[in-house]
Amino acid sequence: MLSPSSLRSIFQWTNQQCQLCRLPLGDNETVWCRHCMARFPQPPYCARCGTTTLKSTDQCGSCLSAPPPWQQFYRLGEYDFPLRQLIHQLKFGGKFWLAEPLGQLLAQHISHPAPVIIPVPLHPLRRLYRSFNQSTLLAQAIARETGSLCLPNAIHRTRNTQAQRQLSKSERKKNLHQAFILKTKALPEHVAIVDDVLTTGSTVAELTRLLLQAGVKQVDVYCICYTPVIK
Ligand SMILES: [Zn+2]
Ligand SMILES: [Zn+2]
Repeated sequence: MLSPSSLRSIFQWTNQQCQLCRLPLGDNETVWCRHCMARFPQPPYCARCGTTTLKSTDQCGSCLSAPPPWQQFYRLGEYDFPLRQLIHQLKFGGKFWLAEPLGQLLAQHISHPAPVIIPVPLHPLRRLYRSFNQSTLLAQAIARETGSLCLPNAIHRTRNTQAQRQLSKSERKKNLHQAFILKTKALPEHVAIVDDVLTTGSTVAELTRLLLQAGVKQVDVYCICYTPVIK
């Protein structure tokens, strides 16, 4: 894993041009030019489940009837331009340094940060293939901003589970059954889970249940993008 200082130097080296439109950056512009930054949408959303709503709310209608197991949801935006492109560059284009500014941006929205932050683990084989876990890089960047402790190895993924998106609700449950093991026993009452993109929410829900069973009282979710799926 790269140290924060080497991450910063790579970040500064790539920092001469906007990472979206490629135009040279002006004074006081870092990573993205101000025109591209203006395209970062912040639609209002439900602070419990992350669904986009007409105006910001603590709980939407569906959370009132069937709330998710976590308490608070923080996100940057929907899985759409420009976040969709940035997440793609981060995960599949090898631009791991984008985790730093994305994490910083998300951290600015977190009003009550959890003292411990845990990224969604990748299976070791997938991590080997990609050479890094994007959720870990995001969690470390967020933790640097909030002053929280990032525990990237607190949860292990024991099975290389199938992508959740194509599965039905019951198949997703079966797919995730016993896919994770909690490796850390000493956890505070308030913990946050970090994911890059939330799709069905079933992985994060499974990790939340694991933490609640271990005695954690409040689990929050920090994620860059939310993508609505038909459930
Ligand atoms: Zn730009
Ligand atoms: Zn909701």
